[in-house]
Amino acid sequence: MRIILLGTPGGGKGTQAKLICEHFDIPHISTGDIFRGKIKEGTPEGKEISEYTGKGQLVPDRLTIALVEERLKKDDCKKGFLLDGFPRDEKQAQALDVIMNNKHEQINFVFLIDVPKEIIIDRILGRRVCPKCGESYHVKYNPPKESGSCDVCGTSLIHRADDQEDIILDRLAIYNRSTEPILKFYEEKGILHKIKGDGRIPEIFAQISGVLSKTQ
Ligand code: AMP
Repeated sequence: MRIILLGTPGGGKGTQAKLICEHFDIPHISTGDIFRGKIKEGTPEGKEISEYTGKGQLVPDRLTIALVEERLKKDDCKKGFLLDGFPRDEKQAQALDVIMNNKHEQINFVFLIDVPKEIIIDRILGRRVCPKCGESYHVKYNPPKESGSCDVCGTSLIHRADDQEDIILDRLAIYNRSTEPILKFYEEKGILHKIKGDGRIPEIFAQISGVLSKTQ
C-alpha cells in the first residue's frame, strides 16, 4: 500500500499519518522530519536546508528529491509507505512518478485532508512538538498530561520556529500556489480521495481507513 497524504500545513496530516502507519504497519516518510533531522545533525546540507525551512520556503528540489529517493530505497519501504509533505508541487509529483516507474511500483492512494484556513491558523499557533521523539500536541485540543512536557519521553515541548503567524500565512500561500495543481495530476490518475478534515481525529481517520480497507 503506497500512500500520499496531502493537505495544508497544520491541517492534521501528521496526526493522521501516524494513525494510518500504525494501523496498516507501513513507514511514515515526512520530508519535514527528514529535513529537521538533517538540520539537527548540523552538516553543511542541514545548514543549507535550515535557510529555507526557517523562512517557510520550499527546500530546493535537488536536495528534496534526492533525499526522498534515498529513503524509498530502504528495505522497510518494500511493504509500502506513506509520504507526508511530498510531493509539494507538480515537478515533485513528476519526479516521484519517475522514481516509482524505475522501481516498477505505483502510488495507490492520494488523500487530501481539506481544512478551512481559520481552523488551520488556530491549530498551528497552538501546536507544540517534542524535539526528541516527534510527538505532537495542541495547547487547547490535545494538551500533554503535564503542561510543557512530552507524555512519551518527558522532554520539554517546543513551539516550532516556523509555526509563527506571519510564517504560517506565507506557508499557506506557498501551499495554495504549488500544491493545488498536483491535485489535478492525481485526480486524472483516478487515485485522489478528498477527506473533510475539520472533524474530530478519529472521525477523519475512519474516513481514510474506510477507503483503504475497502480496497485491500
Ligand atoms: P512540514 O513539516 O511538512 O510542515 O515541513 C516543514 C518545512 O520543510 C516546510 O515549510 C518546507 O520549508 C520544508 N519542506 C517540507 N517538505 C518539502 C518538500 N516536499 N519540498 C520542499 N520543501 C519541503
